[in-house]
Amino acid sequence: MSDPFRIDGQRALVTGANTGIGQAAAIGLAERGAHVLAAGRSSCADTVALIEEAGGSAEAFAMDLADPATGAARLAEAGPLDILVNNAGIIRRADAQDFAEDDWDAVLDVNLKAVFLLCQGFARQALARGAGGRIVNIASLLSFQGGIRVPAYTASKHGVAGLTKALANEWAGKGINVNAVAPGYIATNNTTALREDPVRAGEILGRIPAGRWGDPADIAGAVAFLCTPASGYVTGAVLNVDGGWLAR
Ligand code: NAP
Repeated sequence: MSDPFRIDGQRALVTGANTGIGQAAAIGLAERGAHVLAAGRSSCADTVALIEEAGGSAEAFAMDLADPATGAARLAEAGPLDILVNNAGIIRRADAQDFAEDDWDAVLDVNLKAVFLLCQGFARQALARGAGGRIVNIASLLSFQGGIRVPAYTASKHGVAGLTKALANEWAGKGINVNAVAPGYIATNNTTALREDPVRAGEILGRIPAGRWGDPADIAGAVAFLCTPASGYVTGAVLNVDGGWLAR
């Protein structure tokens, strides 16, 4: 009997796979049988080593998305892909009235424009060879909420949710499922500033029904599910993985 939660032999590219949620997602896909291209602007050697030590298959793949077009053009070197996980993202914090235009551009470029160009490049390749595929974009609670002192990040993540639905709608009939995972508050580099602020950290923890911050591995399971045959009829969804934050 085939296991609908396995993706043996499929080729998956994960952006920002050197650390945090991207590293966990890469490991999660490899655990389910995928060959992972661990893509990053920083070395992904640690991620590859973790996967190989566990008996999985992976390779490091250089991809800097600060210039989205140049970064997305790297897809042409990746070979055929079945799965794309758009995880790379940055956050810049400042009061909205002081928020710098350069910071706005940097955040929108990595978090939204690069996501679109990578989705487009992935789909062009898949459609050209008559294949389907799976795309998972990493959204955020700030795909739904306003956040504090992060206007560009919030705009970009609302954009990711909208883009996910727009592309799902266009490509559902062509065999490409496009979904997003919206992590809650996860202990990674992205949230160091929040966790080091005792007031904000206390406010956040006190509002999470699960009573704890999330771990990158909490997100990896949801990402993997959205890449397996088990989720074949799921597309255009934004799946909250937030310890109940948005249910509150
Ligand atoms: P993280 O540890 O800061 O990871 C961000 C990843 O994006 C890193 O691999 C980083 O590479 C990569 N990246 C940044 N700029 C890049 C560029 N120009 N080109 C290629 N890669 C680049 O934080 P994380 O929490 O794991 O974040 C992963 C995703 O989850 C992001 O999209 C983030 O917005 C989202 N998210 C996180 C949380 C949370 O609570 N942590 C909540 C909601 C959504 P470097 O290491 O080289 O900088």
